[in-house]
Amino acid sequence: MKDSKDTLEALRAEIERRNPAQPEFHQAVREVLETLAPVFAARPEYADPAVALVERLTEPERQIVFRVPWQDDRGRVHVNRGFRVEFNSALGPYKGGLRFHPSVDIGVVKFLGFEQIFKNALTGLGIGGGKGGSDFDPRGRSDAEVMRFCQSFMTELHRHIGEHTDVPAGDIGVGGREIGYLFGQYRRITNRWEAGVLTGKGAGWGGSAIRPQATGYGSVLFAAEMLKVRGESLDGLSAVVSGSGNVALYTIEKLQQLGANPLTCSDSHGYVVDDKGIDLALLKQVKEVERGRVSEYAQRRGTSARYVQGGRVWDVPADVAFPSATQNELDGQDARTLIASGVKAVSEGANMPTTPQAVRLLQQAGVAFGPGKAANAGGVAVSALEMSQNAARIAWSAERVEEELARIMGAIHAVAYETAERYGAPGDYVTGANIAGFERVADAMLAQGVI
Ligand code: GLU
Repeated sequence: MKDSKDTLEALRAEIERRNPAQPEFHQAVREVLETLAPVFAARPEYADPAVALVERLTEPERQIVFRVPWQDDRGRVHVNRGFRVEFNSALGPYKGGLRFHPSVDIGVVKFLGFEQIFKNALTGLGIGGGKGGSDFDPRGRSDAEVMRFCQSFMTELHRHIGEHTDVPAGDIGVGGREIGYLFGQYRRITNRWEAGVLTGKGAGWGGSAIRPQATGYGSVLFAAEMLKVRGESLDGLSAVVSGSGNVALYTIEKLQQLGANPLTCSDSHGYVVDDKGIDLALLKQVKEVERGRVSEYAQRRGTSARYVQGGRVWDVPADVAFPSATQNELDGQDARTLIASGVKAVSEGANMPTTPQAVRLLQQAGVAFGPGKAANAGGVAVSALEMSQNAARIAWSAERVEEELARIMGAIHAVAYETAERYGAPGDYVTGANIAGFERVADAMLAQGVI
């Protein structure tokens, strides 16, 4: 055990040296390697230096960086940077979203792509890991500007993707509107009606029912599974939810369907706490229709809601917490606040929203903690179901997709739970999810030779 720990530590140091100035990627790799020592001890074939498995797993198969020039409504030309990191295709075509946000750089895309490998493996649906995006900021841009940006982005990206090669989807800043523009340009350039090249498409042209809801719904279903093990349910519990994008909205929706009371939402400027519980119809109007700020929700909601500028949403006491905005949004201090207010479970709807220190504190305090690789895998799982429907040229009913989603989330919970038990870390879903995902990818890589 000591030996494999030392080996992993040396590998981690080497990965950080070779990939300077990529703190999010280092964090994601460290978090996985830290939990792999027991599996290396039990399965020495994974640790055999002669096959360099971890070195291969942490080096993307391909990294594409490109210029994205586009013209704004006044005729001015802007230049953004586009990325696609095709990380690992041992289990299937690269699969993962595109993020359009000013914070996007190669290190952020690599962290997201690395996480995606294990998340996608956990779904059991035959998808590899990839991620992409741009430092383009869609906020405040007109539809026409977003369209021109997406067309320019796809003009380069189209040569790297395909239904059997690499299948992008949405992430922060990329929703149904952007996927529509991207798909249109792909179709025009390639002269192919290749539905399976992108997921998150519109319902009438190859999109799957429940895809917009899937990440948020799945994160709540994962929390329900964690509570069930402890003999509890979401019914009657209060919830704190961060974010106000697609994941947060449908986290709130599923919580309400299961009898819980979500009290909050947030954006980069502040948060809203609504004593009566979030009015989802109003929040959807503000966010999905008007593309506005959560402060506008508070202004229109009346006396039950107040807006706290620049505050921490985790200060609102609740029974369960759903970080659903972005990476590192819940730190050690926030974890202490949540623990002091008696939180029972935390389920990560976003990717890596909880800092390593916060994860440790929550786990030490006995809080059920669902890591994003497991808890937010519902989105990409339904993307894989969208690919299946596209391949068969059929569309499943919403009921069927939702049933599948519930089954998949149950299976992910079960494999993470059982794997944690098997490796002597009962109740530790971080260890369970990392090892279960790793084993599937590692076995496929070993079987497929030195690639
Ligand atoms: N961006 C989502 C994620 O982080 C979904 C990716 C997809 O559907 O391919 O998993």
